Amino acid sequence: MTASAPPPDPASTDARPGPARRLFGRSLAARLLRVILGCYLVVAVAVTGAQVAMEYRSAHRRLEADVRAMERTFGEGLADALWNFNKGVLRGILRGVDEMPVVTGVEVRDEHGGLLESVGGSEDGQRWPSLFDRPFERRFDLVYYDENRRPHRVGHWIVRSNDGIALDQVKETLIVILINSLLKTLALLAIFSIVVHRMVGRPLAEIAGFVTQLDIRTLGDRPLQLRSRGNHELHLLAGVFNLMTARLRRAFDDNAVLLRDLQEANATLQARVEERTRDLERLAVTDPLTGLGNRRALDEALAKAVREEGAGLSLILADIDHFKAINDRHGHAVGDAVLVALAAALGAEARAGDRLGRWGGEEFVILCPATGLAEAQGLAEAMRRRVAETELPGVGQRTCSFGVAERIAGESADGLLARADAALYAAKHNGRDRVETADADPAFDRRSAA
Ligand code: GH3
Ligand code: MG
Ligand code: MG
Repeated sequence: MTASAPPPDPASTDARPGPARRLFGRSLAARLLRVILGCYLVVAVAVTGAQVAMEYRSAHRRLEADVRAMERTFGEGLADALWNFNKGVLRGILRGVDEMPVVTGVEVRDEHGGLLESVGGSEDGQRWPSLFDRPFERRFDLVYYDENRRPHRVGHWIVRSNDGIALDQVKETLIVILINSLLKTLALLAIFSIVVHRMVGRPLAEIAGFVTQLDIRTLGDRPLQLRSRGNHELHLLAGVFNLMTARLRRAFDDNAVLLRDLQEANATLQARVEERTRDLERLAVTDPLTGLGNRRALDEALAKAVREEGAGLSLILADIDHFKAINDRHGHAVGDAVLVALAAALGAEARAGDRLGRWGGEEFVILCPATGLAEAQGLAEAMRRRVAETELPGVGQRTCSFGVAERIAGESADGLLARADAALYAAKHNGRDRVETADADPAFDRRSAA
């Protein structure tokens, strides 16, 4: 993980959501749950409504039948009472009718429509809210049959009722249906909530959590394992993710191997380049024949010595006597061998701090730091003797001439070299195989020495 704020972890936020989040959250599972419950509610309301409507219709039919049945039950008695003008009986019957639960009122009228008796009234309708309060009435003729079975129409009676009564009868059924639906909805809510969460919500959160925590270092360490069993699309998706991480891991591993190989090759190459550079640097300052420092190396060493040494820096120039004759008589190869042997002879006398190099051709330079003129002269003398005593390959003993100069304070490298060269010239001039020292006078030159 990086130092920046980690991304929200869907596995920790959504994998164990509360009941409210399960239903009202923005997750796919919550939406699915809402859609399922919404559809269920619409269907349940429609079915319940149809059920209630059917109940109400049959209750209404029963109500109508009950009202119609009044005619058979009370019609004859009422006609009798009316024929005989027996008001007491008439009122008694009407009271009895009014007692019936389906009746809200009843009245009797004579054949001219005049009201004779009335019981109950429309005020009973107040029991119902006006929306459901639908009063209705049925009118029945009153016919009296005499002993000869001849009909005499004596008037009619009206029975009043109200559809609200039918509604009253289905009220309990309605409440049962509603409670039933509510319980079913709650049970389904609980079941769907668990099922949808287990089958959709949790696997999705696990997949999201897995992808969020993917990291190049831990890639493929722990494959995604869905907690819910089964073999549906989300398991397929988890499998695809595992395949993908495994492939990525392999690709990264391959790349790491390639990178390591590349780094190794690079390091080897770099080492070789450095070695070759060192060789080239060494070659640039080395005389290939004698292995001594060449003129460039000596120039640098001299310049450095002039910069760093105060007084007491001395310089010896050595030159083989009549070397041309060796070349001419014995050939160039023998001349080369003589140069190598001579370098060894000079080197044998040089002290630890001295710097011996080949100045060019058959001339050598010995840089002597912290060495006064007399000391340098003594060193040159020792070298001269050593050369003279050395048996050189193919040519026997040969001699060397030496010019020695000590640096004057403030003198340049060129000035010092020029004075040493002048001393060497003097040595040659004075008969060779000898050491000459340069005058401390900068004006000294080979002509004045001659
Ligand atoms: P002197 O005593 O006055 O110094 O006489 P010399 O013959 O030694 O001097 P000169 O300058 O006339 O000749 C130097 C010769 O050194 C000429 C050249 O061919 C030879 N020489 C220079 N470099 C090399 C080399 O690397 N190998 C060989 N074999 N000969 C060289
Ligand atoms: Mg020479
Ligand atoms: Mg010479």
